[in-house]
Amino acid sequence: MLNNLDQNLQYRRSVMRVMLLLVMVGGATFSVINFYRGLWSLAILEMIFAFFAFFLWRKILYISNFQRWVSIFLLPFFTTMVYAMYVPNTSVSIFVWIIAIPMISYLMMGRVQGFWVSIFFIVSGVSVYHYRFIEGNSVIDIADSLNIILGACLMISLAHVYEVNREKNEERLLELASTDTLTGLANRMKLKENFTLYAEYAKRHKSSLAVAIFDLDYFKKINDEHGHHVGDATLCYIANFIKDRVRKTDLLARFGGEEFVLLIVGSKDQDCYKQVDSLRQQLQDTPFIYDEVTLAMTVSAGIATYGNDGLSLDDLLLKADRRLYLAKDNGRNCVVDGSKESEIKNHN
Ligand code: GH3
Ligand code: MG
Ligand code: MG
Repeated sequence: MLNNLDQNLQYRRSVMRVMLLLVMVGGATFSVINFYRGLWSLAILEMIFAFFAFFLWRKILYISNFQRWVSIFLLPFFTTMVYAMYVPNTSVSIFVWIIAIPMISYLMMGRVQGFWVSIFFIVSGVSVYHYRFIEGNSVIDIADSLNIILGACLMISLAHVYEVNREKNEERLLELASTDTLTGLANRMKLKENFTLYAEYAKRHKSSLAVAIFDLDYFKKINDEHGHHVGDATLCYIANFIKDRVRKTDLLARFGGEEFVLLIVGSKDQDCYKQVDSLRQQLQDTPFIYDEVTLAMTVSAGIATYGNDGLSLDDLLLKADRRLYLAKDNGRNCVVDGSKESEIKNHN
């Protein structure tokens, strides 16, 4: 998930780099031209931008606070552009830049900031055009302004549609990448991400966090006796069964095969055990009926708690998995946490 966002940022950095290169070359060239034309203030501003672009060009691929630097560069850049439009004697062709503002803003700043920056600088640019060139109210004058306004509106629409679609596709991709296709539950990747956040929260607020692994007992038999498709339907049933009975703040993920992992947030050890054991009991009492066939099934589970059994997800999963296998060895259809593990070991 995060990789995908990183990729998008990397793509923005590359586009920004090309833009900086163009500003470097264009700024230096126009600075010389405007120097000879006697437009000193503009020539100095353009040279400053050429140097600023050179400075950023060397750093932009890895600079932190990328978005802030984009704003620091683009807002004065657009302002200089509008100033250049305003200065008497600059070429009328400078107004073509008005059309480029929406594309640059949307690509570099995203939909919301891009929209407002585009509107602000387009209105400024068109106002300056009006001030410089529209003297009367002839039809030709109105047509000139209208052409610029329509061209800019078209570019805003295109950039807006492009950005909205890109955001939607990105959202869809992120959802697909973090969802288990069979059950619709979170997958391992989402589990890892959420664990990092939950663990951060647990550490800061000194609250509890536990990991429970559920494994269906004798699941192979369901596949063997009724077919793989019934096995699949059973997995979906179990996924919904557990999900409907846990708190919204807890996260249920399919860990693979017929194993599910539940992240339990904010419950004390004893309460975690009770919660997981109650799920086990309810599942035992509620057989799954598929095509008039009644499938009774049970689960075994192992629980590990953040802090007592480790601080990383891998450590907690390892501990919970060992306890799950203790539950299997102990006759299945039961739950083993830290204290049950000691009891079983003492008993043996
Ligand atoms: P135990 O009580 O020891 O857990 O016995 P078990 O039969 O459940 O054994 P195990 O956990 O090793 O078996 C897992 C089985 O789950 C093997 C595999 O055929 C089945 N399985 C794994 N993924 C899927 C799936 O996506 N769909 C279906 N239908 N079956 C799956
Ligand atoms: Mg298994
Ligand atoms: Mg199993």
